[in-house]
Amino acid sequence: MYTILIVEDNEMNWDMLSRRLQRRGYRTVVATDGGEGVRLALELRPDLILMDMSLPVLDGWEATRRVKADAATSDIPIIALTAHAMSGDEEKARAAGCDDFDTKPVDLERLLPRIEAFLPPAPRAVDTGPLAADAHEADPHA
Ligand SMILES: [Mg+2]
Repeated sequence: MYTILIVEDNEMNWDMLSRRLQRRGYRTVVATDGGEGVRLALELRPDLILMDMSLPVLDGWEATRRVKADAATSDIPIIALTAHAMSGDEEKARAAGCDDFDTKPVDLERLLPRIEAFLPPAPRAVDTGPLAADAHEADPHA
């Protein structure tokens, strides 16, 4: 199960995102300011970070720079979420080290493919059954 760290200070937003991502099979952890986001990224090593840009303590740009500057967390993909589709925001997010970018309000159907580009969905159990059985039979140590 993939863990997604949601760094978002607006309770309505993180609550909605968290519940909807959990329904899709993701484990979610929420940080409500940029400093906590950097700390939890290092502590939990999530598989992906959704980063709001307008945050207390450290804004999303600075939190992203810190996560990307630390070799322990630099590989974690970060998708920036900005409230304003202002020109220059995507460029700014990528310059800070964000791997992708989407705008708020969040449209989960638009955001999910961006998440899945970094976290490929697990194959369906029905597809792995025969393969698992073959592998078992072929294993001389089984
Ligand atoms: Mg915010």
